[in-house]
Amino acid sequence: MTEETKAATDFGADVFGEEAIRTYLSKDTAKKLQATIREGKPLDPSIAGEVAHGIRHWAMDRGATHYTHWFLPMTGSTAEKHDSFLEIKDGEPIMLFSGKNLIVGEPDASSFPSGGIRSTFEARGYTAWDPTSPAFIKRHSNGATLCIPTAFCAYTGESLDKKTPLLRSMQALDKSLKRLMKLFGREDAHTGCTLGAEQEYFLIDKEYWKKRPDLVLTGRTLFGAPSAKGQQLEDHYFGTIPDRVLSFMNDVERELWKLGIPAKTRHNEVAPAQFELAPQFEELNLASDHNMIVMDTLRNVAEKHGLKCLLHEKPYAGVNGSGKHNNWSVAYGGKNLLDPGTNPSENAVFLTMLCAIIEAVDKHADLLRASVAGAGNDHRLGANEAPPAVISIYVGDQLADVLDRLEKGGGAKSKSGGAMKIGVDTLPVIPKDATDRNRTSPFAFTGNKFEFRAPGSSVCCSGPMTVLNTIVAESVDRIAGELEAAKVAGKAKPGEHTAAFHNALQKILQSSLKEHKRVVFNGNGYEAEWPEEAAKRGLPNAPDTPSALAALTKKENAALFEKYGVMTKRELTSRYEIFLEEYSKKIRIEGACARDIASEMVFPAVKAEYIETMKAFNIADKVGVSSGTTALRESVVELGSGLDALRAGIIELESALGGSDDAAILASMRSMRTTVDALEKRVSATRWPLPKYRDMLFLY
Ligand code: ADP
Ligand code: MG
Repeated sequence: MTEETKAATDFGADVFGEEAIRTYLSKDTAKKLQATIREGKPLDPSIAGEVAHGIRHWAMDRGATHYTHWFLPMTGSTAEKHDSFLEIKDGEPIMLFSGKNLIVGEPDASSFPSGGIRSTFEARGYTAWDPTSPAFIKRHSNGATLCIPTAFCAYTGESLDKKTPLLRSMQALDKSLKRLMKLFGREDAHTGCTLGAEQEYFLIDKEYWKKRPDLVLTGRTLFGAPSAKGQQLEDHYFGTIPDRVLSFMNDVERELWKLGIPAKTRHNEVAPAQFELAPQFEELNLASDHNMIVMDTLRNVAEKHGLKCLLHEKPYAGVNGSGKHNNWSVAYGGKNLLDPGTNPSENAVFLTMLCAIIEAVDKHADLLRASVAGAGNDHRLGANEAPPAVISIYVGDQLADVLDRLEKGGGAKSKSGGAMKIGVDTLPVIPKDATDRNRTSPFAFTGNKFEFRAPGSSVCCSGPMTVLNTIVAESVDRIAGELEAAKVAGKAKPGEHTAAFHNALQKILQSSLKEHKRVVFNGNGYEAEWPEEAAKRGLPNAPDTPSALAALTKKENAALFEKYGVMTKRELTSRYEIFLEEYSKKIRIEGACARDIASEMVFPAVKAEYIETMKAFNIADKVGVSSGTTALRESVVELGSGLDALRAGIIELESALGGSDDAAILASMRSMRTTVDALEKRVSATRWPLPKYRDMLFLY
């Protein structure tokens, strides 16, 4: 085995997982901890001391001198505050890590966004260990830190993070599914949500990045004329991965494997310099944490290769942006409920789940849309490359036909005429990814899972996944309630059902489908007609972040989150305020950055070109050479009017920045971009102060 292939055997070496637990803890404690992890229960305080002791030894064997509670504050990134194991006892240095240090931390949280939940005088928040996401080692060039994934709350118990609502939403879904599956005669089991998050990103040479204040400060290029070659030929997609990039990817994957993150697939994406990393799916909470580590690792490893990894949704205008496809499914007792199954009984469960999901997405399309809203994603959703801003479901022609027949069928006579009877008819084999059309849908069924394609590349998965779990918990709960009311369950042997049960189920699903099938759309989501058609169907279309976030202010949505114990009204409102403020701040940073680049870099360059051209014209004129003077005169005029337009644009943007209307800032930035990009074509390339698209987008 070579050094390289050995990397696979290092999988999980930096995670306090099964093997480390067995090695560093006593048999009894190991057993208790493993049960905690499996069942997602809080840690038994009586073993906390020994677990902490074991984890410290394990971490120190890997070079760690510090530990941190690692959490997901509302900023959208991860947070860590390191403490060393070092303590001085009776004048002697010793290394210590107590059970209390493991279980709770009390970071001064006054600078984290709380959306009004916590005032500064009661600024302390606390972090609580989430044993279902194992501790891991974060290495840097001369040391290592033990990271303990935690939830982050205010002293009132209200959540200040993105993990807590996700965990609560999983509990809600578990509760609803237990209620439903009992009616299907299934034994009580554990609900497992799964997530596979495909991560798209761009790479850029660090030298170019450094010369682009817009990339440094905002993550996207605010200016830049299109490159003659962009993605027209679509020759980048799945193309040969350049060696420089491949060696970067290898390093990324090796680090991820060590952290127990199953990076599986890597390829070139559609835009030049755009790539994708897809892990094998895992349990949802773990996968969500892992995706945060994936993003961190991509950024860190890029530095070592003289690269920068851009996770912004739209770093470059005119070429595709980056998304993060959330592949999600639900298992009960280890069996995937979104797998259509092979017999009428399994089919019945599958169809119930499918209808519950259709109902949930139709009822709460506004919340799903809100969960992916952000300044960056606004450039992506609705543009002709990413899923539209209208939330719809793709199920494919075959399943659409099944749903149609399901809606028609049910009665005694329904065997004929293409109708379908639950519990009697078997589903046809549903092909995985039968067509490519699902790629234009924001929410597509892909064989045994749904792929939510609207989330942006930089988003934390837990937001959209929290919404998805909650809305499905509600519709599953509703369907279970109706089935209970029909009093038809439990008459047959477990696993078998009476015709009465299946008839009642069919009636419930039929009426749900009638009401909600408008959200099913199997056509091309990029077509211009679709938003019109969607409007006719009454589907909401929130084109930007402020209009999308309005969903979080609706009474019925607050009631939904409260009913399922996912968020209180105050927690939801705080999120609305945090997201809206973040949006506004980002737009303002972009606006100020655009103004600075325009006035400090572009204006002087255009002025120099103007002076030089003017001089050339003057000299030609003086010595009486007439050839060339027409071109020079026209050029001077063009540059001069460009300068005028630029100055007017700067003044307009300045005034927008002084006001309170974010849309006005965006509009001024757009119009200034048109001016600047046109000027880029008129100024000599050697003088242009910003690296060009054609340089930045090609890495070879
Ligand atoms: P693509 O969508 O590009 O065709 P795949 O079909 O291979 O790619 O799957 C994409 C992602 O979906 C992978 O991360 C994969 O692990 C994940 N996935 C597959 N099955 C499930 C499942 N049951 N639950 C959640 N994610 C899944
Ligand atoms: Mg995919």
